[in-house]
Amino acid sequence: IVRLDGVPMIQDGSNRGMLFLLQEVTEIRRLEKMRSEFVANVSHELKTPVAAVKGFAETLLGGGVKDEKTARSFLQIIYDENERLNRLIGDILELSKIESKRAQLECSPVHLIEFFDSLLETLSKVAEKKNISLNATVPEELFMEGDEDKLRQIFINLISNAINYTQDGGSVNVNVVNGQKADGTETVVFTVRDTGMGIPRKDLPRIFERFYRVDKARSRSSGGTGLGLSIVKHLVELHHGSISVESDLGIGSSFILELPLLQEGSH
Ligand code: ADP
Repeated sequence: IVRLDGVPMIQDGSNRGMLFLLQEVTEIRRLEKMRSEFVANVSHELKTPVAAVKGFAETLLGGGVKDEKTARSFLQIIYDENERLNRLIGDILELSKIESKRAQLECSPVHLIEFFDSLLETLSKVAEKKNISLNATVPEELFMEGDEDKLRQIFINLISNAINYTQDGGSVNVNVVNGQKADGTETVVFTVRDTGMGIPRKDLPRIFERFYRVDKARSRSSGGTGLGLSIVKHLVELHHGSISVESDLGIGSSFILELPLLQEGSH
């Protein structure tokens, strides 16, 4: 540790106050840096679709495109990019809500088998398009306390990713079991496993960061915003849970979540 003027500091009792101050300053600087990086990233991410919409609209307005097929394909690009912009704005607002601590849990007992039945029904259309088999194994009478809307968002993000990053004909499985932590707290352990492309080992520690993507082009072309997993991580932490990932390149990935069975303070 060095002082702000670069002089090394001795960590004895007399310098403790100074050390504390330094840690505060370092933390504030770190947060400022994160915030300015986030703003830079957001601007960049927003500019890309806006530029695409503008460019293709200008070409169409210029009247240079005579055949209808090309014109339609340009309109489709405009539509898709606009949709992505919409998702991006939604994700950014969601993330800022969670990060500013305005997000609070509205807990109720969630019957997990019913929860996954309805969720998988919603997602089955996307899976069918890629001929991916999508299944969930959930104990019949298992209820957990949680915020159903937020749990939905967690699993929609994880399962959509699993479908997205798995080749046609693969499979995505959700497995739910009771668990227990070392201190005796009862938990529910969820595993979302896919037979997809996997994630390189070096990228694993970073995939929960905002806007971090292993393959930018692939994420963009599949409509990804790069924010899904950071939203998931925040929502899991809001539930006092934890999330980890295991992956083998070319074989598949597993996202493992452990959430408390009951939420403290909601009784
Ligand atoms: P995106 O919108 O790009 O999917 P996410 O935050 O959801 O953003 O995920 C971050 C990155 O992690 C993705 O761009 C992708 O590279 C990688 N990733 C996430 N889930 C999977 C998965 N199931 N299999 C392979 N790669 C994944």
